[in-house]
Amino acid sequence: MLGGGAPIVVQSMTNTDTADIDSTTRQVLELAKAGSELVRITVNTPEAAAAVSHIRRRLDVLGCSVPLVGDFHYNGHRLLTTYPDCAQALAKYRINPGNVGRNREEDDPFTIMIQTAIRYDKPVRIGVNWGSLDQNLVVRMMDENARLSEPLDVKEVTRAALIASALESAQRAQNLGMQANRIVLSCKVSDVQDLIAVYRTLKLQCDYALHLGLTEAGMGSKGIVASTAALAVLLQEGIGDTIRISLTPEPGGDRTQEVLVGQEILQTMGLRAFAPMVTACPGCGRTTSSFFQELAQSIQRHLRTQMPLWREQYVGVENMTVAVMGCVVNGPGESKLANIGISLPGTGETPAAPVYIDGEKAMTLRGDHIAAEFTSIVDDYVARKYIRRP
Ligand code: SF4
Repeated sequence: MLGGGAPIVVQSMTNTDTADIDSTTRQVLELAKAGSELVRITVNTPEAAAAVSHIRRRLDVLGCSVPLVGDFHYNGHRLLTTYPDCAQALAKYRINPGNVGRNREEDDPFTIMIQTAIRYDKPVRIGVNWGSLDQNLVVRMMDENARLSEPLDVKEVTRAALIASALESAQRAQNLGMQANRIVLSCKVSDVQDLIAVYRTLKLQCDYALHLGLTEAGMGSKGIVASTAALAVLLQEGIGDTIRISLTPEPGGDRTQEVLVGQEILQTMGLRAFAPMVTACPGCGRTTSSFFQELAQSIQRHLRTQMPLWREQYVGVENMTVAVMGCVVNGPGESKLANIGISLPGTGETPAAPVYIDGEKAMTLRGDHIAAEFTSIVDDYVARKYIRRP
């Protein structure tokens, strides 16, 4: 369920050739295992459309029920009608009003896609993109703007055209019989301020569920920072029902990073919890060895690795916080605030690492096996603290 106060959903998109059933199934599985709650796949050719139902079946056999969203551009109407198994296997259709095209009513591509969605009882996402905006609409709005006594600048008109494209298309879908609560809207742009402005206006003008994402966010830290900057502002204002972080992976990089970033945005903002969080200090001149960074990293990795198992076994473990701190200055304080915290000895401090559990000092670790001992303390804590699922 999307919108109406339901938890904000993290989604992702594959970058495999959908016609390649093996690799697409594998990547959907990886994304779902990382926590993606919807996975969008490109459906761009007859071969891709023919593969969709096979991918769905394989996922089902493997026990993966993550919904698949079909991403259609240009030819979705033809693919959905020629491949009914594809239309049935998908959980949602993404329609881009900027490139779906227009035609006489009896074979209008948008109409056919909406009618197909209604026939198969599927919701749709009407997804407008700055880069593929309906040019007829833009020209019309630019002409109207030019006739104003005080014309708006081009950027403002383009923002307005994005919103108009989404809202007019949603209204057309409703006129064709699609229920409003089966429509999700998105207006993706690649500039942070544009995205914020567009979604603020969109939210004021409609009640549809909204999918948020900064499109073409980019690679590495730039993509993460830009996406976070834009989404955090909107999410804080209660705007957004589902998110996707459009990161460009490094060559051969891990596609699941976009899922992790989406989860971490929601979790650090206190909107949802997905996995235990590690609070770690940045280190400074008081930590001259890399031991505490290694411990923070190994604990983070351990929590992420254990989480799929813990999620099935224990209720609420995703809310756990673990602090790994570099010295006595802030170490005990942060450790007491976490469920479990360890304060490592800084340079020149007594070689002892006090461990705090639920705000109380529980023990002090010493010697060469602090990492292994602390990991086992975390595991014991989880088993004691969280109720086992039946
Ligand atoms: S807790 Fe200690 S080591 Fe960590 S940043 Fe603060 S002063 Fe530096």
